[in-house]
Parts: sequence; structure tokens; C-alpha cells
Amino acid sequence: MILYQLACTNAHQFEAWFRDIATYDAQSAAGDVMCPFCGSTGVTKAPMAPNVATGAHKDATAETRTREVAEQIMRAVHRLHRHMEENSEYVGDRFAEEARRIHFGETEERDIYGEATGQEATELDEEGIEFQRIPWIPRRNS
Ligand SMILES: [Zn+2]
Repeated sequence: MILYQLACTNAHQFEAWFRDIATYDAQSAAGDVMCPFCGSTGVTKAPMAPNVATGAHKDATAETRTREVAEQIMRAVHRLHRHMEENSEYVGDRFAEEARRIHFGETEERDIYGEATGQEATELDEEGIEFQRIPWIPRRNS
């Protein structure tokens, strides 16, 4: 279905639904499209209005979609953080040191999380110590 903004020869404007463009063309050519105000069949499509409306609608939809995706990502990150907080030990900025000690068996093997500088992360990488980077998000209650 398409909505046309139509205008008659007497400058009345009105909207009408048609199944498709071909239906409008056929009815218009046959003189079946009639102005509801004056009964004139000299009806033409009003310029621009339908296109403008459609364009604005499309932009709003894309914006909503983008926001939904962003919120989904944030929820996933929050879940990841919660899981991590419940299942591993927080070691703060000693992360690189602890990860290394665990790797070399110098301390009890366990899951840990904390902060590491870019330099420390690169060193852990080079030493073949397994760790994962997770997206950082501000804590809501701090
Ligand atoms: Zn009219």
C-alpha cells in the first residue's frame, strides 16, 4: 500500500491509499480518482510531501536501531563484568604481576581480573601468558 498526497484542479489537497503505483496510474487514467471535496477527477499527485514524510520516517528508524544496538552491547558488557566480578578475584593494578605468577605456578591458580597498562599487556602477550581484554565501562555506583 502506498499513500499519495493528491491535489485536484481546484487546489483541494487530500490523501488516498492505493495498492501500488500501477493501481494509482490505472485509476487516475480511467478518471476513477475523484476529489472528495468537489468531485473533480482532474487529480494529480501533490509534489514532494509524501517523499519528505517518508525520508524523515526512515531517518528516525535508523537512529532508533543504532540506539538499540548500542544498548544491547552495553547490556552484554555489563553481564560480562558481573560474571567476572562473581567468578574471579580482583587484583587491581597488580594484574600483570599476578597473571605472571599464576602462569609460572608461583601462586595458586585462579581466575583474576584487574587493570593493566598497554605496556604490561604487550609484555604478557609476548611472554605467551593468556589473558583477555574486556571493554572498560564506568561503574554505575561509583
Ligand atoms: Zn477538489
